[in-house]
Amino acid sequence: MSKIIIAIDGYSSTGKSTVAKLLAKELGYIYVDTGAMYRAVTYFAVQHNLITEDSLNNEALISSLDDINIIFKFNDALGFAEVYLNEENIESQIRTLEVSKYVSRIAEISEVRRKLVQEQQLMGKDRGIVMDGRDIGSVVFPDAELKIFMTASADTRAKRRYKELLERGHNLSYDDVLENVITRDKIDSTREDSPLIRVEDAIEFDNSKMTIEEQLAAIRKLAEDKLK
Ligand code: C5P
Repeated sequence: MSKIIIAIDGYSSTGKSTVAKLLAKELGYIYVDTGAMYRAVTYFAVQHNLITEDSLNNEALISSLDDINIIFKFNDALGFAEVYLNEENIESQIRTLEVSKYVSRIAEISEVRRKLVQEQQLMGKDRGIVMDGRDIGSVVFPDAELKIFMTASADTRAKRRYKELLERGHNLSYDDVLENVITRDKIDSTREDSPLIRVEDAIEFDNSKMTIEEQLAAIRKLAEDKLK
């Protein structure tokens, strides 16, 4: 087998994208952060006043879906692909707590999922891809050769996300980040369409006490076994 699909699913802030990015680089594969796509749709909804704390204009968002063009462009200097919404680089805009707060509500909408899943399947049609998200092994690529399910304690995950956000210059409290991580996990795991689940053939990793190098080595070994 020449190229495989590696699906990495799991809870919020489990470090999926860090490992997925490094793994893709080593293998010479494409890396796709599907969370960035749901965040891009959310950013669009925020920009167009379609979502607030207590309202969501589903219909308007669904009828705008054709106007939402999401692409990734590789940034050589940064070493990873940045997300663009209708030609605008929104890589930093999608990482705010505001977008994080609304994204799981947007991700519940079946029409949104249908559009993004279709685009994700197209990106992986030639295999040779590492994709992370919530439904990659279950819905996007149920035939992926390697499926990983990442977990870590909520506290470990919130600490990681908090540190990351502080480093990016965001001013927020640890409690807000922890609450966001817990709320998103709950919505993501209990929604009707494509909930976050661990599929039977996924290999579970609790990385609370693993370094990135250890995670990478373990997943690399599994990928090499599949490639043999
Ligand atoms: O991975 P990230 O934390 O950036 O994902 C943001 C949100 O996007 C998740 O909390 C979830 O609601 C949604 N998502 C999803 N399906 C995916 C990827 C992300 O529903 N495949």
